[in-house]
Amino acid sequence: MTQSRGWAAQNATTPLAPFKFSRRELHDHDVLVDIQFCGVCHSDIHFVRNEWGNAIYPVVPGHEIVGRVAAVGSAVTRFKPGDHVGVGVIVDSCRTCPSCKSGQEQYCDVGATLTYGVRDRYGDLTQGGYSNNIVVHDHFVHTISPRLSAAGVAPLLCAGITTYSPMRHWKVGPNKKVGVVGLGGLGHMALKFAHAFGAHVVQFTTSESKIDDAKRLGADEVVLSKDPTAMKKQASTFDFILDTVSAPHDLNPYLEALKRDATYAQVGLPDQPPVINMGHLLFKRRAISGSIIGGMAETQQMLDFCAEKNLVADVEVIPIQQIAEAFERVVKAQVKYRFVIDMASLAA
Ligand SMILES: [Zn+2]
Ligand SMILES: [Zn+2]
Repeated sequence: MTQSRGWAAQNATTPLAPFKFSRRELHDHDVLVDIQFCGVCHSDIHFVRNEWGNAIYPVVPGHEIVGRVAAVGSAVTRFKPGDHVGVGVIVDSCRTCPSCKSGQEQYCDVGATLTYGVRDRYGDLTQGGYSNNIVVHDHFVHTISPRLSAAGVAPLLCAGITTYSPMRHWKVGPNKKVGVVGLGGLGHMALKFAHAFGAHVVQFTTSESKIDDAKRLGADEVVLSKDPTAMKKQASTFDFILDTVSAPHDLNPYLEALKRDATYAQVGLPDQPPVINMGHLLFKRRAISGSIIGGMAETQQMLDFCAEKNLVADVEVIPIQQIAEAFERVVKAQVKYRFVIDMASLAA
């Protein structure tokens, strides 16, 4: 077994604390990664606090993992010790269903194996990246350019691919007007990608204080969504809108902003179903859809695209000892725009 150290939650109410555990012995296709950085995703907080009702304890959270290969199994050819690599939200899938066969492992028909908090195909409880190492099948490991900031890359593995994949799917690019709803960890990546794809990018926000930041991150325009007159001016002008907000909110004013046949894609997951005026859909054949992370090949494409454009997340690097405070600030949306844990701090 591989000995591991991390920070775990033992139940829904006590803070994360140091935890020793073991990971499986390397199988032929496995890669052992020494973790350098791990991003702090809002999902980590929902999960450890059992806000989705599916937590299994103890749990080491973290699915925005960047590190160096420490060892590889005998059948691994894509990686060698020392390589810069990343691991995201899933670490396995069935690899035989139509979704897996078409490179959409995130939609695996029998369910992809999440990086933490589930039983994997060996019967082990998966444990995430708030730790010093991880063992992952090579199909679920990604190559990272050593030219990019390793800390800045970490959030690409969840927040990055979650926004990149739908924008590629719905063909965001030049001569397209694209809206981004919400400016947090996901929203700031959406702005960067939409801008890099050459679209005309509009940030919707409820907060005037975010206007300057939105423009710095790639927005061509900022619309205050609380202002009905400003929203009316946008009616029927958007080719695509990506909604990154996970708090319950009214979608109807945004649906009216879409052109005929345009799509509204949700990547945040509110815990209350929205009330939709179906007239907004049928009178202009508009669609509402959703999207979750991306496939393994597409995740690698995104990382390569980011290397080419020198594009990374805006991060605040913290030692693991500050995780409780970081969680509080994520919940209050007081981070610009992602915390990333420096795993060297585990040794402290
Ligand atoms: Zn995440
Ligand atoms: Zn599958």
